[in-house]
Amino acid sequence: MTGQHFLTLQLINVFDDRVKHASCMVDNRGRRSIVQSIMNIVSTVSHAGPHRTDDIAGFDSHYVLPGDRSLGILLICDHARNALPEAYGDLGLPASEFDRHIAYDIGVEAVVNGLSQRLGVPAVLSCFSRLLIDPNRGVNDPTLIMQLSDGAVVPGNRDIDEAERRFRLSHFYKPYHRAIDAEIDAAIADGSPPVLISVHSFTPAWKGLVRPWHAGLLWEDDRRCSDLFIQALSADPNLVVGDNEPYAGGLAGDCMNAHAVKRGLPHTLLEIRQDLISDDLGVSQWIERLAVAIEAMIANDQIKDLVQ
Ligand SMILES: [Zn+2]
Repeated sequence: MTGQHFLTLQLINVFDDRVKHASCMVDNRGRRSIVQSIMNIVSTVSHAGPHRTDDIAGFDSHYVLPGDRSLGILLICDHARNALPEAYGDLGLPASEFDRHIAYDIGVEAVVNGLSQRLGVPAVLSCFSRLLIDPNRGVNDPTLIMQLSDGAVVPGNRDIDEAERRFRLSHFYKPYHRAIDAEIDAAIADGSPPVLISVHSFTPAWKGLVRPWHAGLLWEDDRRCSDLFIQALSADPNLVVGDNEPYAGGLAGDCMNAHAVKRGLPHTLLEIRQDLISDDLGVSQWIERLAVAIEAMIANDQIKDLVQ
């Protein structure tokens, strides 16, 4: 029996004794509801941490795909996976919530892997769900560890203390960002400062509004790289390409702000509609489409000219 189950049973036993002595004022339905409340409380407490390094042994925060740095491109994937170390359970959420965009960006890990391989460029990908801690937020952003995400309350994030917040920063968030910095530093040392291309996916509708774009390019102040992509993808008349859509880029301390804007590196954040890359066929079509666009930019030195 786990500590969590033991604690739950103890609380239910205490509750049952109290009910017996209170002349059975609570019927069976009421009892079930109170038992469920106890289980929810215990579940929340047990996920709130702080966790220890032993609890996450064997769980990698990120991985790096090697590539030819002289091509001047670094791919980044903040929301590649919906995974959590076992010690966190499901953060008190129904398992089905981990199939949704609130846990990760559907389809992007396969796209970034395929693109890295096809072009031969390096990539850095995170391995933890954004529900644990969001690598595309600044450390002081109130949504860094989401307590409420698109209608879902996240019990395991509701009452975490400062020690657990620091634990998630040091063991997941920071190692991923250090890996991005290391790739950028290595590329600069090799004489090829990289253009950063961050790949995400978005939902077909948001708050009842249908999003018409197949893809969107997001930027903060420097729109040069986004413009190249918009131009390249718009050559296909069947594609609706958003310019700073489905939302505007630029959030203090987010991934592009921290690694590109602050370091003066050209960049873009590419958003692909998730239903277009939710199966193997869609993934391979988008890998090919993006690879052709990026190869043309490399061949014309357009990408390299951005870093002159
Ligand atoms: Zn994302």
